[in-house]
Amino acid sequence: MTSVSEFMKAAPARLEGNTPWASRYAGELRRVVVEQANGSARNVQRHLGPSELGVPCDRQVVGKLAGVPATNHVADPWPSIVGTAVHAWLADAFTAANAGLDFPRWLAEQRVVPHPDHSGTGDLYDAKESAVVDHKVLGESSMAKIRSVAGPPIKYIIQLILYGKGFRLMGLPVTRVALAAYPRTAASLDGLYVWERATGPQDDALIEEVFALTGRRKQMAEEIISGRLTLTDIPTSADDSECFFCPFYRPQSKRDNGPGCPGPNS
Ligand code: SF4
Repeated sequence: MTSVSEFMKAAPARLEGNTPWASRYAGELRRVVVEQANGSARNVQRHLGPSELGVPCDRQVVGKLAGVPATNHVADPWPSIVGTAVHAWLADAFTAANAGLDFPRWLAEQRVVPHPDHSGTGDLYDAKESAVVDHKVLGESSMAKIRSVAGPPIKYIIQLILYGKGFRLMGLPVTRVALAAYPRTAASLDGLYVWERATGPQDDALIEEVFALTGRRKQMAEEIISGRLTLTDIPTSADDSECFFCPFYRPQSKRDNGPGCPGPNS
């Protein structure tokens, strides 16, 4: 786990090559990749999808709903670039796997609308198992957490349940949601791990709670937009692992009272 001080020191490393030209060129390649990643539709969106509604920290979700500018420029986009690329490959692979089947078993990258304001894209629906599958491409520490007794973070579970609701609203049977965790840094698929849980109408009360919480968060976002509140007036509930990837994380703000959020216990 990265410490706060390590996080603050994590300026992009100087890149290397076999000649001075190659070193400079490596930096130029990285600049283009990072600029594209930071400007992608996924990163400039204000619409919150199912993956964001279950985040426990009010401040993070309210800040996103209010369109507060990001202050965390340290988090490296590479893990999400790898994740996006793997998702695209998996979508093609599972779609192609329908060829030759008696019925199309796999439905990949399907838009789902569990709530009119919060649509999303379900990675995979398995018609044979009546299961909704979400692919996660994860580093070692996240893989270990999902394999532990505690299981996935609540935001992943809420995301899965909301996708399940979206597929149910399309009229498809859904009895199970599954998180397929692919090891991002391993050299083989031997570490692939699946976490699953039953779902169905029994989750509708929980889903309504999530939407009610989102409604309260939208009200707080309106208060920020109107200037009656600032981001730091919003309560927090997070740990380091959530904060490091939060767009508003800026530990220095505890000292300089500048923009951003200092993180847990702020
Ligand atoms: S940095 Fe952490 S505590 Fe602050 S808004 Fe983000 S997730 Fe919440």
